[in-house]
Amino acid sequence: MLSTLVRILFGVDMTLGCFNYVAWSWIAGQRFSAWFLFLSIFSTHFPDADMIPYLFLRRRYRLVSHWVIGHHPLLLLPFVALASFVVAKILMPDRVSYTVALITSGVLLHFLHDGVSSLGFPWLSPFSQTRFRFRSGKPIVVPQAETEQWMSYWKTRERSAADEIAGRAAPVTISQFLFSGAGVLALIVFVIDL
Ligand SMILES: [Zn+2]
Repeated sequence: MLSTLVRILFGVDMTLGCFNYVAWSWIAGQRFSAWFLFLSIFSTHFPDADMIPYLFLRRRYRLVSHWVIGHHPLLLLPFVALASFVVAKILMPDRVSYTVALITSGVLLHFLHDGVSSLGFPWLSPFSQTRFRFRSGKPIVVPQAETEQWMSYWKTRERSAADEIAGRAAPVTISQFLFSGAGVLALIVFVIDL
């Protein structure tokens, strides 16, 4: 439990949330707000909320990945942009574009992070399940055989719910730790307005 918390706290998505917040607040000339910082960090984690239905449905449907609802970029990005636009229009009419930019780019950063995995990422999902990985900035199609290989490997493994959560987040590395430090530093610099 504690190690899972540490992994989330020093996770790449957490740091991306900090950088995303500082960048957009600086561009939009916004002062520090814990609420918008929370929104940014929430958005860089948001697609992984599909872990919840996955944990309930994985046995029944023999699912091998939690990427069931949240990991369809072509569906989720327009949805998030539209939903944050509507909600911001009602709740924060003076900060609509800032809110939409903050949340949509937060979700995009999450996908980019998922996309650096060697397994690749289905950028055109739900319209195509072809996976792409980036090599020196260029998208390369991951061969179908490779995808099938790791899928059948996952199918053979029985995992508890705890394994699912803890096992998927990689242990915290030194570079991840330094990256976290840089995120916190950016946040501090922004808050004290250097
Ligand atoms: Zn994800």
